[in-house]
Amino acid sequence: MPSEFRNEPFTDFTKEENASSMRDAIAKVQSELGREYPLVIGGERIRTGNFLESINPANRTQVIGRFNKATKELANRAVEEAAKAFETWKNTSAADRAALLFRVAAIMRERKHELSAWMIHEVAKTWPEADGDTAEAIDFCEFYAREMLRYASDQPLTQIPGEQNRLEYVPLGVGAVIPPWNFPCAIMAGMTVAAVVTGNTVVLKPSSDAPAIAFKFFEMLEEAGLPPGVVNFMTGSGAEVGDVIVDHPKTRFIAFTGSKEVGLRVNERAAKVHEGQIWIKRVVAEMGGKDAIIVADDADLDEAATGVVQSAFGFQGQKCSACSRAIIDSRVYDTMLEKIVDHTSKIKLADPTDQATTMSAVINEKAFKSINSYIEKGKSEGGRVLIGGGSDGEQGFFIEPTVIADVKPGATIEQEEIFGPVLAVIKAENYDDALKIANDTQFGLTGAVYSQDEAKLERARREFHVGNLYLNRKCTGALVGVHPFGGFNMSGTDSKAGGRDYLLLFLQAKVASEKVGATTKRAEAGTATD
Ligand code: NAD
Repeated sequence: MPSEFRNEPFTDFTKEENASSMRDAIAKVQSELGREYPLVIGGERIRTGNFLESINPANRTQVIGRFNKATKELANRAVEEAAKAFETWKNTSAADRAALLFRVAAIMRERKHELSAWMIHEVAKTWPEADGDTAEAIDFCEFYAREMLRYASDQPLTQIPGEQNRLEYVPLGVGAVIPPWNFPCAIMAGMTVAAVVTGNTVVLKPSSDAPAIAFKFFEMLEEAGLPPGVVNFMTGSGAEVGDVIVDHPKTRFIAFTGSKEVGLRVNERAAKVHEGQIWIKRVVAEMGGKDAIIVADDADLDEAATGVVQSAFGFQGQKCSACSRAIIDSRVYDTMLEKIVDHTSKIKLADPTDQATTMSAVINEKAFKSINSYIEKGKSEGGRVLIGGGSDGEQGFFIEPTVIADVKPGATIEQEEIFGPVLAVIKAENYDDALKIANDTQFGLTGAVYSQDEAKLERARREFHVGNLYLNRKCTGALVGVHPFGGFNMSGTDSKAGGRDYLLLFLQAKVASEKVGATTKRAEAGTATD
C-alpha cells in the first residue's frame, strides 16, 4: 500500500543550492531551444514538415520549439491507434497502471527544475509560479494513482441471500484530452494521467502555446514504460484537428480545460452522434471564471490587500482562479484602494528567467491586444486607472499590472473574463450588495471573502455560488487533495480536479450479480463435460 498522499513541497529559492539548481536548469533548457518535435501516434514518430512554432512570450523572437502539425488524416489515425491500444490497456491491472503513475511522479520529481525551466521560457512563468505548476503535476500523478487503487478495491454493496454481487469500475475508451496553456504542465498532465490510470487511452492535443512542456511530459511517460498508443501526442491547430478528435465516432469522452467559448463548442459537437458511434460521449469541461474577492468593512485590510494583489497578478492574472474583481464595502473602499495600489507598485515586471521577477509577459499577441482593449473599454465605461494601464509589446508581451477603480456592476470588465493583469475594483454599499454583485455573473469558479465576522463568512458559505470559496485567504493556489478544484455555471461541468470524485468521470460502473446456488450446479456440470 502506498503511503498517505502528501502534497509535493514548493521549492525555497532563497536557499542558494535551490536557486543554483534552477539556474542550471535554465541554462540546460536554453541550450535545447529551437529543436523540432514530432507527432507520436501509435508509438511512431511522425513528421509532416508543416510546423507551428512555440515562442517565448517574454522574448518573442526566441523559438522554444518547432512542432509538426497534424493533418486531419493523422488526427483520425491517432484516434484509431488509441482505440487499438485500448483493447490491451483496459486489461492491465489497476495496480500496474498506478505503478506507472508513481514512476512518472518520481521522474518528474528528479527533473523538477528542468520542467519548471521549460515553463519559464514557454509561457513566461516566474520561478515560483513554474515551481508550483510542476509540483501540482507531480501531485496529480501521486493522488490519482492512489485514487485508482481505491476505486479498484472492493466496493460496498447491499448483499442479499442467494446472490453474490460485485461492482467494478471499468474504463470508458478513447479520450480526447485538450488542455489550456496556462497550467501547461499540471492541467495537461492531470487530465492525461487521470484518463490513463483509469484504463483509457488518449489523444493528447496540447495547446499550441505550450507544446514543448507537453512533449517533455510525454517523454517521461514513455520513460516510465507507457506502451505505444496509450497516449498519442498530437500537435496542431485546435480548430482543425481539435474538431476531428472531438467528432470521431470512436472517441468516447473529451477532457477539456479552456475558455467558455471553446468548451461550449466542444460540448455541442460532442452531443452529435456520428455514423458508427454506439455511445453518448462524455464531456468533462473546465472553463473560465470571473472571480471576485469581497472585502467587508470589518476585514483585516492589510491581509485583504495582500490577498487581492497576489490573486489578481500572480502569473499575470492568467489563472482561471485569478481575482479579476475586488468588491469592497464603501466604508473601507478608499483605504483599500491605497493599499492595493501600494502592493501593486512593488511588483517587478521583467524577464522570468531572472529570479527577482515577480510578473512577466502575457501569453501571446492575441492576448496582448485583447487585454489592452479591455483596459480601454474599462476606461471608456467610466473606470479610473489607479496604477498601470501601460504596455510594451516590443521585446515581449508586457502589460503593466493594472488596477481600475469605480467599475460599475454590469460593466464589460466586470462581467467578461479578461485573462490578464487587470483588476476591476467595485464599490459595494454593504455586505448584502457585495454578495449580490459577486454572484451576478455567468461564471462560478472561485471567490474569497475577507471579514472578521463569522456570521458574514457563514453567509458566504451559503450564498456565494462558486465551486471554490476561500475565507480570509487569496482565491488562487488550490492544492491537489486539499482543495478539489472546479466551478459552477459557465465555469464548467462541475467536476473537481484533484478531488475524490474526479476519476469517476473517466470510469463507468459494471455490476456482476451471480446466483450462488445455480453457479455451483453449472460449475459441476462444467467439470463433468471437461
Ligand atoms: P482555449 O479555449 O483557447 O484553448 C483550450 C484548448 O482548446 C487548447 O488546447 C486549444 O488548442 C483547444 N481548441 C481550440 N479550438 C478548439 C476546437 N475547435 N476543438 C477542440 N479544441 C480546440 O483556452 P486557453 O486560452 O488555452 O486557456 C485559457 C482559458 O482556460 C481561460 O478561459 C481559463 O479560465 C480557462 N481555464 C479554466 C480552468 C478551470 O479549471 N476551470 C483551468 C485553467 C484554465
